[in-house]
Amino acid sequence: MKKLINDVSAVVTEMLSGLVALHPGLALLQGGSIVVRADAKEAAARGGVALISGGGSGHEPAHGGYVGPGMLSAAVAGEIFTSPSVDAVLDAIRAVAGPAGALLIVKNYTGDRLNFGLAAEIARVEGIPVEMVVVADDVALEANGAHAGRRGLAGTVFVHKIAGAAAAAGRSLSEVAEAARAAAGAMGTMGVALSACTVPAAGKPGFELAEEEIEWGLGIHGEPGVQRTSIHPADAIVERLLSAIVADLALQQGDHVVLLVNNLGATPTSELNIVAAAALQFLAQQQIQVERAWAGTFLSALEMAGISLTLMKVDDSRLAQLDAPTQTPAWPTHSGRVAQVTVQAPPTAPTSVGGATLSPDSPLRRAIEAVCAALLAVEPTLTEMDQKVGDGDLGISLSRVARSILAEIDTYPDASKPDAVFRGMSATIRRVMGGTSGPLYAIMLLRAAAVLEQSANPTLSDWSRAFTAAVEGVIEIGGAQQGDRTMVDALAPAAAAFAAAIPAPLTSASPLDTAVTAASAGAAATAAMQPRLGRSSYVGDRALGFPDPGAYAVSLWLAAIRDAVQS
Ligand code: ADP
Ligand code: MG
Repeated sequence: MKKLINDVSAVVTEMLSGLVALHPGLALLQGGSIVVRADAKEAAARGGVALISGGGSGHEPAHGGYVGPGMLSAAVAGEIFTSPSVDAVLDAIRAVAGPAGALLIVKNYTGDRLNFGLAAEIARVEGIPVEMVVVADDVALEANGAHAGRRGLAGTVFVHKIAGAAAAAGRSLSEVAEAARAAAGAMGTMGVALSACTVPAAGKPGFELAEEEIEWGLGIHGEPGVQRTSIHPADAIVERLLSAIVADLALQQGDHVVLLVNNLGATPTSELNIVAAAALQFLAQQQIQVERAWAGTFLSALEMAGISLTLMKVDDSRLAQLDAPTQTPAWPTHSGRVAQVTVQAPPTAPTSVGGATLSPDSPLRRAIEAVCAALLAVEPTLTEMDQKVGDGDLGISLSRVARSILAEIDTYPDASKPDAVFRGMSATIRRVMGGTSGPLYAIMLLRAAAVLEQSANPTLSDWSRAFTAAVEGVIEIGGAQQGDRTMVDALAPAAAAFAAAIPAPLTSASPLDTAVTAASAGAAATAAMQPRLGRSSYVGDRALGFPDPGAYAVSLWLAAIRDAVQS
């Protein structure tokens, strides 16, 4: 188990002390496991109904993150995935309830119902009006199946918000409870897990999932779900989850809902947004009107990867309660309003059309096609090399460029002239290739084009000057010198060898041959060089023994040019 903790038995109190330290509007009650609004007493004295929620920990930011004006008055935190005790709940009630009483919002688990329920009963005996609302929004379990009842999941956060708005508006305890109960009855949630989670005290994951497996309809306590299948595309996962919720709520065309995309803990924001887009599209197809939508970590299961989706039916008054102001650590500050997504086309540079294109048997075209073929073939090798010393994207970047150039080769303006073709290729690279290599290759071709345009029919020595100018461009823009372990270590010796071989004596190898030999030797030599630039510099000594992938790529495309020209 790898966790940023000190002591498995101190996880809850230590995390809450961090939460409260970062949010001066919050305070901890004695014992350190109850988070309360620092101004809870004043709020209760003003006649407001106090709202209390809680349950086992491990669902952060729930529930301490929802304590504050407009939402909860207190959150009672049990040990990880363990209901808090009766007395802890009772302490919270006594601390924050005023004459208007308290509403307990409880997720439907046996332990929580018992502990919160008994505390409510004792508080009533003490003269404190208390009501309890149980949330059971889980639609993965049948409504009347052979189980302990549907579980309370992420939809609980909507109940906090709606009840909080009703309480802040000065409603009575029975009115606040009614608003909460109605909201709880108007929602459904279902989730999917991509990985399990580890309870600190247990030290190992609650279940095992194979590489390609996902678990459907799970709860939020690391327990297995209702079904296990192989992974599907996000769209298909969203469709299945939402179909179950739509059917359970009997949603019809024209119904108004809000959507919650909830991170179970370890899902990247990028994937949450992919899921959100898929969910909005699915609901649009069903002609269900999404009034608000939020994506984020609302109610998690420790570090479980995966999501849950919640839909709740809304009318104008419930929507106004969701929109009502609140100030808590975790309720989102943005409105949740849903936009029509439009992607604007970027302004395009003028391109000339028509004119000659490179004929299939022109040497230049054959050389370009050979380079592209070589880059496509070497993608996996470059990926592996870049993974060792960089971030692993070089193979993909260069093969993307190769595909784009092949697709656009007939569109480069005035394609009979090499400088025009190089400018066209440079433009393609600028558009499709980022990273460090992208701009370096783009400048290489632009500098070469600037030399080549000076002669109508470039000679071997024009090509040599173009090559040298291209390499100088890379050095100027990238700031690397020979010996810094970059593509310059292949480029610079190659350009020098090419220049030195002109005019070639009849006996010697061709200039391209000597250039290729120099580039390969230069690339191989990088294995012994200390990285000083680029991402390799972050791995330092660990790069030693592995050649620089950028330099290797140079030796490869140069060899492809030689082979094409000589054949
Ligand atoms: P990154 O992913 O690091 O942005 P790429 O994967 O596109 O970059 O390219 C990595 C290659 O770029 C390296 O193998 C190296 O040959 C080359 N490189 C890195 N920094 C420089 C530089 N300053 N000048 C020339 N080449 C460089
Ligand atoms: Mg890279």
